[in-house]
Amino acid sequence: MSKLPHIGTSIFTVMSQMALENNAINLSQGFPNFPVDERLTTILSGLAKENIHQYTPMSGLPSLLEKIANLTNHSYQRTVSPKEEILITAGATEGIFATIQALVKASEEVIILDPSYDCYEAPILLSNAKPIRVPLNNEFTPNWERINNAVNKKTKLIIINNPHNPTGKTWTENDFLQLEKLIDTYPNLIVLSDEDYEYITFEQKHISVHLRLKLWEKSIIISSFGKSFHITGWKIGYVIAPENLMREVKKVHQFLVFSVSSIAQHAINEYIDLVDVNQIGKFYKQKRDFFQSLLKETKLELFPCEGTYFQVASYKNISNESDVDFTKRLVTEFGVATIPISTFYANGNDNKCIRFCFAKDDETLIQATERLRKF
Ligand code: GLN
Repeated sequence: MSKLPHIGTSIFTVMSQMALENNAINLSQGFPNFPVDERLTTILSGLAKENIHQYTPMSGLPSLLEKIANLTNHSYQRTVSPKEEILITAGATEGIFATIQALVKASEEVIILDPSYDCYEAPILLSNAKPIRVPLNNEFTPNWERINNAVNKKTKLIIINNPHNPTGKTWTENDFLQLEKLIDTYPNLIVLSDEDYEYITFEQKHISVHLRLKLWEKSIIISSFGKSFHITGWKIGYVIAPENLMREVKKVHQFLVFSVSSIAQHAINEYIDLVDVNQIGKFYKQKRDFFQSLLKETKLELFPCEGTYFQVASYKNISNESDVDFTKRLVTEFGVATIPISTFYANGNDNKCIRFCFAKDDETLIQATERLRKF
């Protein structure tokens, strides 16, 4: 009877729950554990007594839409229309869901690159469309031969995620040239670009679809205030798309949530003027470097982390167990919760890799690695 027979509870919920039950350090689900910026909490408490508690316009608070357009211009030198091309969403996940529901018809196909974040598949299945899962290369880069072979006339969307959750890899100039070639060959193909971690990159500056003029008319770009401002629980992000596509996405959004939490929009509307987005990557680079230096004292082998606040590590020098069994044992015996990478693959591909979230205060990272040194 289920419409989604193969979909269970998300691995993030499962592992965070296990962490709680075992009183473990939770490096599984991606969220910061340090306090949010005090300037933001001050704004928030000031707003409580203001007249801001009713619905905002459906697509978002006009002044925040303007400020998002300015931020996009400042970050990527792209001019977008606040009224026609921006939609404030209840987190990136709602933007992704609304986009897929709005644009993908029954029996059309959608390309997903595995390992992939877990919220892409369900909206495709609920549209009676077909997810086509194409594995990345072993070092988690796009495999263009496989992607080109998977695309055909029925392909409506290709979902890309850069910087990439769970692997922390970022796309190169060549990846975008390949994508642009693909779009030339299939002019009806649309790109859904999940750029949740756009401001969390390290050595290389983020290459956004906003920087790719050739892709603008074909792309829906997803951004997250939750990730950029360390407020994942506020569930607020935004979508940028050309007017003809955005019109359709708004039709779904208005019946999914109508409009997003007014207090969150008003608070961000004030806070966004105070934030320098260029500092976000620097802030997390320090955390990444610190966490990597701590992990060097364990038997784990680290994959490169170019962006996001996730570090992938192989435990093949420690155990032969499946990654699901290994992560369970890590929680129950060692008191550290992580995420098994196989759960991001349709075929359960198990490379003996786990994902850590390092958006944590230094003390948490130190304590977790002390426990991990005991293997
Ligand atoms: N984005 C978070 C992560 O990757 C999870 C959010 C959620 O639990 N849905 O860990």
